[in-house]
Amino acid sequence: MTDSVAVVGGGAVGVTAARALADRGADVTLFERGAIAAESTGRAAGICYDAFAGRTDAAIAARAMTHFRELASETRFSFVERPYVWLAREGDETRAEAIREQVPRMRERGRAVELLDPGSLADEFPGLRTDDVAVAAVARDAACADPAEYAAVTAEQARETGATIRTGTEVGLTEDSAVVTPDGTREFDAVLVAAGAHTRPLLADAGVAAPIKAYRVQALVTEPIPASEDLPTLYDATEQFYWRPVEQCETGLDGRASEVRRRVREGGLLVGDGVEKRDFDPEDWDRTADEGFLASAIERVDAALAPGVTRPTAVDRSWAGLCTATPDRDPLVGEVEPGLFVAAGWHGHGFMRAPALGRTVAGAILGDDGIDAFDPTRFDGDEQFPVVEGLTVE
Ligand SMILES: Cc1cc2nc3c(=O)[nH]c(=O)nc-3n(C[C@H](O)[C@H](O)[C@H](O)COP(=O)(O)OP(=O)(O)OC[C@H]3O[C@@H](n4cnc5c(N)ncnc54)[C@H](O)[C@@H]3O)c2cc1C
Repeated sequence: MTDSVAVVGGGAVGVTAARALADRGADVTLFERGAIAAESTGRAAGICYDAFAGRTDAAIAARAMTHFRELASETRFSFVERPYVWLAREGDETRAEAIREQVPRMRERGRAVELLDPGSLADEFPGLRTDDVAVAAVARDAACADPAEYAAVTAEQARETGATIRTGTEVGLTEDSAVVTPDGTREFDAVLVAAGAHTRPLLADAGVAAPIKAYRVQALVTEPIPASEDLPTLYDATEQFYWRPVEQCETGLDGRASEVRRRVREGGLLVGDGVEKRDFDPEDWDRTADEGFLASAIERVDAALAPGVTRPTAVDRSWAGLCTATPDRDPLVGEVEPGLFVAAGWHGHGFMRAPALGRTVAGAILGDDGIDAFDPTRFDGDEQFPVVEGLTVE
């Protein structure tokens, strides 16, 4: 019987798990060393879609999308529907072929995705440059959200359901998986480590080797441009960057549609790329974006917009963040040793899957079946592996 559970980490995954555990009657204490969404969740772009070709991934994404919409219908959390387009340009036959091949597999999974020829792409999204597009695809079941708002709302719900949320409380683990808090060491029936880039060192305290690497990515928001309302979320696989129009992000939405639309019209583009394919120390990395990234992101946005569209030339704000990688690009979700659980290793897709996988790991703690493909004991822990970015079509 699992009565008392400690959750380490107040990102999207930890708060989801805490809420799910509290919903099911567990006595939950969540420890967050900073504020809720202090790390990767607060730095994420908030792009969500269900365009996955694998059976497990597609089912997880569909569950997550349903949950996001339910949450948006019940709370101040805002989930803005927006199609997700991904494309490869002429001369990039490898990625073009990958897109042609993956879309039918996504459709077999019941996902609302379709291939678009350049003419259809231009008709539907006139703000995009399409003359050099080899192949494009669009996912209709896609949206954008403010990840920090999701985490804040979910943490509130967890608290209302009975969970204790202790922010500003850094914890460690003993070799017996007791939780070392600033007030002393406490034992729990189960401990969940959902500490993002800090997961590997925390588990190491408990004597568990987890093959998780932290890699640095960068993002910026451009000055507002008039076209942003009509643009889709975009991933340009050839140029290796993405954007999403910024609308509800960091506006403190009050739920009034007219207010939202005004902000949509005034939005800039949140642009990201810059995956650095090496392992970073989660305590020692540069949180500011590099000058080179800022310049190249603006250039790539310029090249991806249709002629005649007003281009952004200035950057409003920028930052860097950490994502987590595993040897096989699947996350580690489940029990690593009796009473010790992990949920990490998202390859840049942790926010969009958090509502589903946070619940999955909460269920595993309470005795439900987990997801075999994500079983964290599938590795020895000492694997050597290169960091591979998550947002890729190959
Ligand atoms: C620039 C950028 C853009 C991204 N865009 C997207 C996107 O569009 N869509 C998407 O799905 N994903 C995106 N991601 C990835 C996404 O941010 C992560 O996958 C997701 O937020 C992971 O959530 P988490 O709860 O696992 O980790 P985190 O949000 O990192 O939460 C872990 C928490 O643990 C806390 N913690 C660590 N150590 C301790 C300790 N010892 N004691 C107590 N607390 C501790 C940290 O302070 C942190 O708050 C992006 C990431 C970045 C950086």
